[in-house]
Amino acid sequence: TEETLVLIKPDGVARGLTGAILARIEAKGYSLVDIRLVEPTRERLAQHYAEHEGKPFYEPLLEFMMSGPSVAIRLAGNRVIEGFRSLAGTTDPTTAAPGTIRGDFGRDWGVAVQQNLVHGSDSPESAQRELGIWF
Ligand code: ATP
Repeated sequence: TEETLVLIKPDGVARGLTGAILARIEAKGYSLVDIRLVEPTRERLAQHYAEHEGKPFYEPLLEFMMSGPSVAIRLAGNRVIEGFRSLAGTTDPTTAAPGTIRGDFGRDWGVAVQQNLVHGSDSPESAQRELGIWF
């Protein structure tokens, strides 16, 4: 079995989609190992998003992620890293496939950062690194 970090980002929490998103994760058969509501500091977010430092959307991304609480989840299951990213859909909510979290619930607000409801680690290395940042 494998573990990943999932975040329900501030837009998902603020829009009252936490339950709907968790329902999809649970229906898929993944296990919630740990879950908490977090209001991250800039320092924590800078660690989490270190690879994006210097990109045009970096500052708007940090501001967005500090705009309200996120739900952090330690999620377990066979191939859960790949499986959760498949459930989430691609980064841009406009083109994310219907049937995915971002495709069904994501909205393009026309702002500098994609407010795309969720985050999921993209590799075993990222998962271990990110789980250490949030838990
Ligand atoms: P995540 O890592 O959050 O699951 P991802 O892997 O689809 O999403 P990354 O490339 O890691 O996306 O980017 C992290 C986040 O930064 C995205 O989820 C989105 O909120 C924002 N972002 C990424 N690329 C862009 C972009 N070109 N324009 C605006 N926002 C972006």
